[in-house]
Amino acid sequence: MQDTHAIMRAKGTLESGSDMSAFFYHSTRNNEQAVTSKQAILQGIAPDGGLYVSDQLGDEPLGLEGLSRLGYHRIAHAVLGTLLGDFSRRELTECIQGAYGTNFDTSAVTPLSPVGPDWLLELFHGPTCAFKDVALQMLPRLMVRAQKRRGTQVMIVTATSGDTGKAALAGFSDVAGTAVTVFYPAGKVSDIQRLQMVTQTGANVAVAGIRGTFDDAQTEVKKLFADRSLNARLARDGVSLSSANSINIGRLAPQVAYYFSAYSQLVKRGAITEGDDIDFCVPTGNFGDVLAGYYAKRMGLPVGRLIVASNTNKVLTDFLATGVYDRRREFVKTISPSMDILVSSNLERLLYYESGGDCELVSHLMGQLAEEGRYDVGSALLARIRESFDADFATDDETRATIRQVWEEERTLIDPHTAVAMHVLRKREPEGRARVCLSTASPYKFSRDVLEALGRDVDGMDGFACMDELQLLTHTKAPAPLARLRNAPIIHHDICYTDEMGAFIEQAAARIFL
Ligand SMILES: *Cc1c(COP(=O)(O)O)cnc(C)c1O
Repeated sequence: MQDTHAIMRAKGTLESGSDMSAFFYHSTRNNEQAVTSKQAILQGIAPDGGLYVSDQLGDEPLGLEGLSRLGYHRIAHAVLGTLLGDFSRRELTECIQGAYGTNFDTSAVTPLSPVGPDWLLELFHGPTCAFKDVALQMLPRLMVRAQKRRGTQVMIVTATSGDTGKAALAGFSDVAGTAVTVFYPAGKVSDIQRLQMVTQTGANVAVAGIRGTFDDAQTEVKKLFADRSLNARLARDGVSLSSANSINIGRLAPQVAYYFSAYSQLVKRGAITEGDDIDFCVPTGNFGDVLAGYYAKRMGLPVGRLIVASNTNKVLTDFLATGVYDRRREFVKTISPSMDILVSSNLERLLYYESGGDCELVSHLMGQLAEEGRYDVGSALLARIRESFDADFATDDETRATIRQVWEEERTLIDPHTAVAMHVLRKREPEGRARVCLSTASPYKFSRDVLEALGRDVDGMDGFACMDELQLLTHTKAPAPLARLRNAPIIHHDICYTDEMGAFIEQAAARIFL
């Protein structure tokens, strides 16, 4: 293995990309079995429950020279060529052109805009108006190319609390060799979120509401992945189940590119000179987005601080202050629902890297989390993590106040998730570095809460009434994919009990694949 590493080590530069490079991946909990990135993408999670990581991350930094001259596609190619080096250059080019072409409403893909002295990195210009598009437009394309010679068809199954389901539907819709089934908790997602899902077109998509909560749906999906007889029946027809969860390396890798893109745009605008450190503030739930920033830093991007912003479910703020990760607390429903998470799965990858690749320690900590609901990393590991990361949080009231303040002062409309991060960023003393706040959703996805934050009474108004009112009030325009929902025919009417979800998946597979 040692020799292969030396030969195949990433030698990516932003100019050339990297045909020769191929990272190997293994579990965060065990480094004995190495897999290629294609295998890691198809499997999603390692067989022992760990997350796939590569020890080659950062071996050879991506050169920054000329970064400011490159567009998004070239940057993405260089980043993915390094992290997913067993895909050919041609495969990556096809994936990138397909994922970040006309389905984003700007050729910059993730444009940067000023907000006071700071910057917003707008990640919501994709087909579902949330940052998950950047990864979920890419993942299906990677999966199809990873499975090319295996002859199986993949059924993606996802339980969603709102945003992920639509992004997965849009990403996998009509991608040959794949199908996607999404379960959402009926009556527990917003009007707009429900319409986004039940109007989804495509011959390979299935959507059902569940009588129950998101957790009920999630628990049942996990059970179905482990259900041997269901999997055997599907396998007989050449169908395998897979997940589009954010722990998949095929979702993480595409997100690294926009950190490089942000840097490139700052240089281009003359806001920084090549080599200057910059800070990123990231609204955080499952820790995928901010971890991608850490990957960028390890790949050579000059990053000062990575600031983890949470809502009232501030497990990560407490963790970064004390070294104790404790999920045993009340789960709070907030106006930034995509960050209502008590177990941030991707943190496991950070623990792996910052412990110097200590699989035994990671295993031990994750075991404690599963059994006792908490773990303590100790002061030495905490200190290492804090060399790169800071954290803070915002309450719902602070989030609303920030939406209003940023609108009144800057005439910039931000969504509640972005507002959490803006609150955290603005509370900090500037340290002389350029600061980029990641903006993860269009404010129009959360029209009701945004309108309320601006001081309007929203009682009795439905999602579209709020959208209209928000346009009138701010003279801004709802993005086309959301405005179009008003006249989109409803295609998916199914509602089922959780114990019917397995049968629903089988029927969908039969309809789509046979
Ligand atoms: C998913 C999501 C987040 C959280 O991102 P993680 O990668 O889970 O930390 C933040 N904002 C929005 C709008 C999201 O959809």
